[in-house]
Amino acid sequence: MFSHRILAALASATFVFGTPLNTANNSSTICGSNPSPEWLAEAEKHFLANRVDLPSKADYRNVVIPVYFHVISRDRTLAGGNIADYQIYQQIEALNGGYQGTGLSWRLMDITRTVKPAWFEAVIDSVYTREEYEMKSQLRQGGPETLNIYTVGFSRSPTLLGFATYPYNYQFDRIRDGAVLRFTALPGGLYPYDRGVTGIHEAGHWVGLAHPFDGGCDGGDGVADTPAEAQPAFFCTPRDSCPGPRYPGTDPIYNFMDYTDDACREEFTPGQIARLRSQIATYRGYPQ
Ligand SMILES: [Zn+2]
Repeated sequence: MFSHRILAALASATFVFGTPLNTANNSSTICGSNPSPEWLAEAEKHFLANRVDLPSKADYRNVVIPVYFHVISRDRTLAGGNIADYQIYQQIEALNGGYQGTGLSWRLMDITRTVKPAWFEAVIDSVYTREEYEMKSQLRQGGPETLNIYTVGFSRSPTLLGFATYPYNYQFDRIRDGAVLRFTALPGGLYPYDRGVTGIHEAGHWVGLAHPFDGGCDGGDGVADTPAEAQPAFFCTPRDSCPGPRYPGTDPIYNFMDYTDDACREEFTPGQIARLRSQIATYRGYPQ
């Protein structure tokens, strides 16, 4: 759960074109969607004040989310980022598998391919670069209901696998809305992130889920049934980073919103499902 302590936390944010995604980046992160505590608190405040109520779980009308896939490459080779169509189909399958039981499914609308080394290399997570703005201005399709996924090289961020915007962001910056993935983190990519879980995780941010470890043991993701976690978990080793009776449960290493190996992550909790439905009802107009 979000702690009141983070409401009082102060940090400075710098950005070029729009709202910052990330002010707490470090070199070992694999996901660049790390908003500052005060941004998370602000977004949560807005969400709680504007939340759209949904019908009961049993009456939830399933939603189909259109997906546009934009492949950015250095050249026309696979090593240069020009991934195969079948990897994109498998990524969509992975999304549909991961979101089974949430009421969400994903439908591929189109694939675009752009050979542009500057975009491939200079799109990063921590700063809204001119290249990212140009790429998204030229390629983004649809409105708040449409997921645009871009694959790039992240050449300047060696460990980064992806980043995405939150639903709350759309009202301030509709161009930036979407998810950016490292091209090697798709199905058939580089072990251990080779089963499409990066796409599931980043789509999770796009539908309003945070990391269970955001803000540490006393922070959290605004979801009651994801146990507290002090920092991201890697590999797939069970642990309890927030021990003691105040923090029930062991770390959510099997959760899609942690950082463990793709083979390890396999679930969203009921609380996350309730939250993502409510987030996309509030900010993305679903169910339509
Ligand atoms: Zn993330």
